[in-house]
Amino acid sequence: MSPERYDVVIVGGGIMGASTAFHLRTVHGKSVALLERGFVGAGASGVNFGNVRRQGRFLPQIPLSHRSRAIWGRLPELLGEDCEFLPTGGLRVAYTPQDMAVVEKHVAEAREWDLHLEILGQNVLRDRWPWLGPDVIGASLSPEDGHANPRLAAPAFGRAARRAGAVIHEHCEVADIEREPTGFRVTARTGLEVRGEVLLNSAGFWGSRIAAQFGEPVPIVARGPQMAVTEPLPYFIEPVLGGVSADIYLRQVKRGNVVYGGGLRGPVQTDPPRARPTPDLSMAQWGRLLRFVPALAGVQVIRTWTGVEGYLEDDIPVMGESATTPGLFHAFGFCGHGFQLGPGVGAVMAELMATGRTSTPIEPFHIRRFAGRTVAQAAEPPPTG
Ligand SMILES: Cc1cc2nc3c(=O)[nH]c(=O)nc-3n(C[C@H](O)[C@H](O)[C@H](O)COP(=O)(O)OP(=O)(O)OC[C@H]3O[C@@H](n4cnc5c(N)ncnc54)[C@H](O)[C@@H]3O)c2cc1C
Repeated sequence: MSPERYDVVIVGGGIMGASTAFHLRTVHGKSVALLERGFVGAGASGVNFGNVRRQGRFLPQIPLSHRSRAIWGRLPELLGEDCEFLPTGGLRVAYTPQDMAVVEKHVAEAREWDLHLEILGQNVLRDRWPWLGPDVIGASLSPEDGHANPRLAAPAFGRAARRAGAVIHEHCEVADIEREPTGFRVTARTGLEVRGEVLLNSAGFWGSRIAAQFGEPVPIVARGPQMAVTEPLPYFIEPVLGGVSADIYLRQVKRGNVVYGGGLRGPVQTDPPRARPTPDLSMAQWGRLLRFVPALAGVQVIRTWTGVEGYLEDDIPVMGESATTPGLFHAFGFCGHGFQLGPGVGAVMAELMATGRTSTPIEPFHIRRFAGRTVAQAAEPPPTG
């Protein structure tokens, strides 16, 4: 029997693949098959910190981040569930005058990209959030940023894509991709074969291997940012907090648990994927957490975890059409910032594949910036998340 044929075959069902499948079906009416090695959203997309943050980004990424933020606000209407997205505001906190200079520069530059942040001094911070540590001297507030539940978001996109007619194969690892005269033949370890006129490579860290197979190696390294969560407490920390130089970020969910992370990203195993937290980093994070919010002293940590994420050497992702292979598109290597971008990446990649163009600028992320590279190994990623 000849393999089923689709307009688009997607390899990798993280938030990028699932959101793209959703947009391809609902906006562009394309036929889609998505193949995922495990469960949809069980990779980095399902274990991340849950920050839906626009401030502090590489400036040319802000238009994509705006597009994504608009979709986060429409999840109930689009997916039938809110994925616990709460626009609580996000604070980028300074401990030193040097931190404050970084904040002020970013606030001025972000305005040019239509991201309007507020600078808050120590007195205002004390009045609004009296539980902040005494070392905090100022912050920038992004009032419409917030956080969401990563365990819910990518699966919700996957379910909505399936309801809209996408064919989603879970536990279906892609073993081989062959270019044919009219598209791609994709073979899974299960024996399943599908054909796609167009192929989206959204395989997270492993997307670099697919790119390399098509003659486009990229300097990437796999690492695991480390997370932890406390027992539930009375709800008091409304905004998401992140430090400028203080390498810690935290949020409190409405059920009361405080989720936090930060610090050096540990080594991970990629074949098969496996990532373990390290006790040394847990201890270092705890000290930084108490400096941020001293009221957390004595609270119990109930779980620590990490996950496998791909970091390109310039700390920005690969997005766009292949430079070597017509019909092949990439969206991988999101360098620890991809959760917020996921809904927008799906909209943009679907638009690009369906119409040949996108209204959101993504040129800085094109894979051609690594043209001529032969070694697919990056330097160590920077420590902050
Ligand atoms: C611990 C942690 C904390 C983070 N915190 C944040 C945060 O707070 N905010 C933020 O914006 N970002 C955060 N990130 C980054 C964010 O989670 C990622 O950038 C984003 O989820 C990447 O999505 P993805 O779909 O590209 O990759 P993934 O979620 O990794 O999905 C790729 C999928 O491809 C599948 N796959 C790979 N190879 C194959 C194959 N051969 N066949 C079939 N399937 C395959 C994998 O199984 C996986 O499910 C964090 C990441 C981690 C790990």
